[in-house]
Amino acid sequence: MCGIVGYTGEQQAAPILLDGLSKLEYRGYDSAGIAVRDGENLAEVVKATGKLRNLSEKTDNGKALSGTCGIGHTRWATHGEPSQTNAHPHVSGNCTGSGSGRVESDVVGVHNGIIENFDELKAKLVRHGYQFYSETDTEVVVKLIDYYYKKYKIGPIDAINRMMVRVRGSYAIAMMFKDYPGEIYAARKDSPMIIGTGEGEAYLASDVPAILKYTRSVYYIGNLETARLLPGEVHFFDLNGDEIQKELTTITWDAEAAEKGGFEHFMIKEIHEQPTAVRDTLGSVIHDGKIDLENAGLTEEVLRSVSRIVIVACGSAWHVGMAAQYILEDLAEIPVRVELASEYRYRKILPDPDSLVIVITQSGETADSLAALRISKEMGIRTLGIVNVVGSTIAREADNVLYTLAGPEIAVATTKAYSAQLAAMYALSVQFAYVRGKITQEQYSYYIEELLAIPDKIKRVLEDKERIQWFAAKFAYAKDIFFLGRGVDYAISLEGSLKLKEISYVHSEAYAAGEMKHGTISLIEDNILVIGVLTQGELYEKTISNMAECKARGAYLMGLTSYGHYNVEDAVDFTVYIPKADEHFMGSLAVVPLQLFGYYSGVARGLDVDKPRNLAKSVTVE
Ligand code: GLU
Repeated sequence: MCGIVGYTGEQQAAPILLDGLSKLEYRGYDSAGIAVRDGENLAEVVKATGKLRNLSEKTDNGKALSGTCGIGHTRWATHGEPSQTNAHPHVSGNCTGSGSGRVESDVVGVHNGIIENFDELKAKLVRHGYQFYSETDTEVVVKLIDYYYKKYKIGPIDAINRMMVRVRGSYAIAMMFKDYPGEIYAARKDSPMIIGTGEGEAYLASDVPAILKYTRSVYYIGNLETARLLPGEVHFFDLNGDEIQKELTTITWDAEAAEKGGFEHFMIKEIHEQPTAVRDTLGSVIHDGKIDLENAGLTEEVLRSVSRIVIVACGSAWHVGMAAQYILEDLAEIPVRVELASEYRYRKILPDPDSLVIVITQSGETADSLAALRISKEMGIRTLGIVNVVGSTIAREADNVLYTLAGPEIAVATTKAYSAQLAAMYALSVQFAYVRGKITQEQYSYYIEELLAIPDKIKRVLEDKERIQWFAAKFAYAKDIFFLGRGVDYAISLEGSLKLKEISYVHSEAYAAGEMKHGTISLIEDNILVIGVLTQGELYEKTISNMAECKARGAYLMGLTSYGHYNVEDAVDFTVYIPKADEHFMGSLAVVPLQLFGYYSGVARGLDVDKPRNLAKSVTVE
């Protein structure tokens, strides 16, 4: 959830750590801290609450700290309030105050994730004379490593390994040991971390953008593995402490892709990148007028053998699943069930060897989705990951992976990754339908043509953004906003409503249009905005009627539809038109005005739309 960075080499570490953290701030941002050491000297720890710029100011952009080896952290609090004392790095030495400055300690460390049994471990450490200054689970891990290190007089790798055997939970940790100047030790379980190398230096980070400016050569450290970083050298070890070899990966995407490139926010930049994200994703599986999923391991034989699909995801990715179920069932005639990963993982699963579990995730690290994937695999069910981040845990652990090619997504609220996921699910649905003989060759070609036309149509929707901007400003301070739709339009409503809540903090709900009258309509008051998504011909009149029921009770109506449904203007107060496409794929166009509506509502209220309060980009805790 948070961001971790580390550097050891010949350059001053602090500015590199701060720069890296600035690229990770989207992961967590209630406080931040760095620890830097100069040769044999004790590490100096500086921490600050709030945004990273507070830490930058406190350290004169890193210039106030001297040393060529260091670790840094931006925090998304799970244990203990966001405060300077609870901010990382944490130290093993007994100290009062916030653990800042130069504390006499053998170990200083940062941590991403949660240690579930920290209470019992803390009690044990207290019995052994340790004192705690913070409320975090992280301080417990640092002190536990220190305890093993001293008790058994073992090196850092063995001490960390002992810790890993003892703790439950998820973590990525980076540590410096007083006796090992110029070295950083790292380990992970279920939380992301990568290690980078360069001439005479080594880096570590939670995610690639943090170090892309400095190196493109990256190692992926596996679960329950440890790493030792020295200037220009990296060594990896397994849980037994035996050295293991790893393959170096070269990152090919551009650092530019992770910069704002002239846009005011990452979110609006990423909204504009959707035509490219969708085109690239479709382009990776459509060749010469055919869909080819063999690279993802989905041969025709596999597609034919599946009798049932379960889509498991969280947040917006779950909304993708909600939309995809209608398309899969309609085109390929396969029964589909869509599950929230946080629910799926704790329910009784009835194993069915012919089913396929599809896990949709941008980061590939979402804790609940990962747990759902592992449970499915344990039950012998084939798993497919629809993943954006190459080499992420879910991408590595799923039986098959279909990558979305959205590039790095920085804004916390997803837009382009969502659109790329939808596109991937469309391609999958059409291929399922074709291979299983549910559509003709002619229909197959028609659907593929329709898919390939989506990117240009999204571009056309974006050309109309000023109108949405104006409309969003009108309702930016609304108390409640409702979204209605049926079928695919309901799934898109869910996403539109979530975008609005995330970015503008306006309360909103999405309803299957026919459900409104079963309770929620009592909330309709004069001038409450009700947005109807109206892209499905057969359901159009039904939803319009439900909207009329709201209007009769005072609501102000916005209709979102494609050109051609001319009578919509008689029924609603404000109409937004999007281009026509095959109705199965209309969601890709309808979602864009809703993303813009959420974005511009947040901007109109002067909010930090890229980093909405209380949220983090990849949710690596339960
Ligand atoms: N559990 C740790 C804390 O609350 C780490 C949270 C994070 O991943 O930022 O400090």
